[in-house]
Amino acid sequence: MGEPRTYSRSHGLPGWEALEEIVGGLEGGIAVAFASGMAAVAAVLDQLPTGSIIALADDGYQGVAGLAEAGQGRGRWSVRRIAATDTQRWIEACSTADLIWLESLSNPLLAVPDLEVICAAPRKPGAILAVDSTFATPLNQRPLALGADVAVQSVTKFIGGHSDLLGGLVSVRAAELGAALRRSRELSGATPGTLETFLAVRGARTLALRLERAQANAMQLAERLARHAQVLQTRYPGLASHPTHAVARRVLAGFGTIISFDVRGGAAAADALCAGLRLIQHATSLGAVESTIERRARVPGQEHLPASLLRLSVGIEAIEDLWADLDQALCATGAAVRPG
Ligand SMILES: *Cc1c(COP(=O)(O)O)cnc(C)c1O
Repeated sequence: MGEPRTYSRSHGLPGWEALEEIVGGLEGGIAVAFASGMAAVAAVLDQLPTGSIIALADDGYQGVAGLAEAGQGRGRWSVRRIAATDTQRWIEACSTADLIWLESLSNPLLAVPDLEVICAAPRKPGAILAVDSTFATPLNQRPLALGADVAVQSVTKFIGGHSDLLGGLVSVRAAELGAALRRSRELSGATPGTLETFLAVRGARTLALRLERAQANAMQLAERLARHAQVLQTRYPGLASHPTHAVARRVLAGFGTIISFDVRGGAAAADALCAGLRLIQHATSLGAVESTIERRARVPGQEHLPASLLRLSVGIEAIEDLWADLDQALCATGAAVRPG
């Protein structure tokens, strides 16, 4: 403070600072705002010396895997993939890797890594343990308090909350790392726009309310989907059937608003379901007031997922409106795939 604002890329704007104060406060650290979630991720990777080892979760955001692989291709670092739920391998990675990159919850299988245990494992000196906790939001999980060095948010999703901006944030405990990230932002020019930070601050004011409502909706829908005749499998950490339900209960304050489920009839039935929905939007983004759905295996790089897996981001609409929409579309695809 007190430094003259001679140039905004170098000295920031009041709007960035307001957003950093809100999210840094929620995360319990020093926050640095970026132009997008990916710009925030890139700034963390920018801290790595050449020849570093990155331990990266296997189920996670495509862009992060793409960035890590691109850097590996240029000889900057090497990447090892680890299953989100393989706690033992993460503990081992903490003592050998220079960057440990976890995602909580994972996308789109919604696995909850055991951050309590992984963050407590001894780390290689200088290593950075980072958690992309976009799906948890700072209200359901505070990775820094659990012992992580870095917590990343794509502001584009829940904090913005209205599908109308791109933004990202990195929160850290160490002032030195915070300063290094600011320097990366200044040099790379990954600076947030004024309108975007204005909208993000406005969105952040209703984050708790939106999350409470959307999460209650998601729990209801997950329970109903799990009982529906046209649904083969429902993944939601709030369901006792989810493989990481017990971990989720321990490390999260809420189970989030994302559900992934597989429908009977494969890819064709899943595509028909998306086309048959009227209220729920067929779109790739998530974390907003409106519900969105996408068949993930149709996205390049996600072909390993079950062909009929649908990722549903539950919004704040009236629960019975959401269920009526899902039920009519499921029943219509069921009628279409049933022989005769
Ligand atoms: C969307 C997303 C990102 C990337 O954020 P952008 O704002 O789109 O650049 C990173 N991680 C997760 C988990 C995301 O959902």
